[in-house]
Amino acid sequence: MDKTVGVLGGGQLGRMLAASASLLNVKMVILDVGDHAPAKQIISPLPPLAHIEGSFADPEKVWELAAKVDVLTVEIEHVNVDVLEQIEKKTQIAIHPSPQTLRVIQDKLLQKEHLAAHGVPTPRFTQVASSQQAIVDAASLLGLPLMLKSRTLAYDGRGNFTLRSLDQASEALSFLEGRPLYAEQWAPFVKEIAVMVVRDVQGSVRSYPAVETVHENHICHLVLAPLRTADPKVGQRAQHVAEEAVKTLSGAGVFGVEMFLMPDDSILINEIAPRPHNSGHYTIEACLTSQYENHLRAILSLPLGSTSMHLPSAAMLNLIGTSSEMQEITRASHGALSIPGANVHLYGKAECRKGRKMGHVTIIGESDAQVRERLRALLQYVPSSSP
Ligand code: ATP
Ligand code: MG
Ligand code: MG
Repeated sequence: MDKTVGVLGGGQLGRMLAASASLLNVKMVILDVGDHAPAKQIISPLPPLAHIEGSFADPEKVWELAAKVDVLTVEIEHVNVDVLEQIEKKTQIAIHPSPQTLRVIQDKLLQKEHLAAHGVPTPRFTQVASSQQAIVDAASLLGLPLMLKSRTLAYDGRGNFTLRSLDQASEALSFLEGRPLYAEQWAPFVKEIAVMVVRDVQGSVRSYPAVETVHENHICHLVLAPLRTADPKVGQRAQHVAEEAVKTLSGAGVFGVEMFLMPDDSILINEIAPRPHNSGHYTIEACLTSQYENHLRAILSLPLGSTSMHLPSAAMLNLIGTSSEMQEITRASHGALSIPGANVHLYGKAECRKGRKMGHVTIIGESDAQVRERLRALLQYVPSSSP
């Protein structure tokens, strides 16, 4: 491939994108802090190209990256959008997804307003000022429990506070101190589901099968693929909702669409990630073309690959730190190596921390029953987790 891709962010998603890039012989330059960012460890650009040391929020560093590449993409949405807009205006470099899409998505309130304006179903929401009275007003509008969320810089639920009673308002304000807020109506979902959608440069979309995502403490813990529901049409409806939502955004690449399946079988969108997504890791082993390869194909104007699963069942368990003790992760990954159909992914992070995603294991099998049995075997090595 003759084009060089520049990636803002060098975490585990960038690392898996780099693994796909190496198979396609796509040249890749990573911008992130640290020489040993997970993505930088596994792909090295041919000299004179080199990875860039610095932040994806630093305009100078983003320009430095742009100067070396033909296409820019992101593995995280919390990047400097102003500088991407300048690069879009002043150069021929393709930027996927578009800076406009990133701007809408990185502010969760703007994202919800955008979706609502396009008729995409979401939980009800309202803007909230940082005061106890504003929280009380939001709760009287949307009810309790109330989901208070930071509009910006949210990930792994770290910007969320579940307000169960009004006397928690001051606790919520100190937990979310200094962050712009909005509130969402509590969604009493039956299941959480996700669909990866890939969009090509012409704007046509195709989606991966719907999956069930199980969260613990607001962090994605387990993914079961494909989604199983009493009504088999739910998965197709989820794909349709996700595709329609992604069509309202501009730019190519993979989008991870997180949704709630409600008791009446309706589907609401929780949020959209403008990049490959944790709940799509399973596509590496279980689908004809992984989300990472399809992301590259999309942003490089290459034909998209099939999004079908090539086996009946898969599960993905995140290996999440419970302390600074790396040994727990080592134990779980070693245990997984003795389980048939289990594929270990370690991200090469130097330090383990509570709540940090250190790796994952994807289990594949010939039936749900076989995958569940293998998952049970794996969970013996992961003491803190229960599906
Ligand atoms: P991510 O790591 O997915 O980016 P995030 O920090 O952006 O996470 P959200 O996806 O907004 O956080 O919320 C995290 C989890 O909290 C959801 O997956 C869901 O389990 C729960 N949650 C979020 N919003 C609601 C809601 N309105 N009602 C009920 N539960 C919710
Ligand atoms: Mg999010
Ligand atoms: Mg989320």
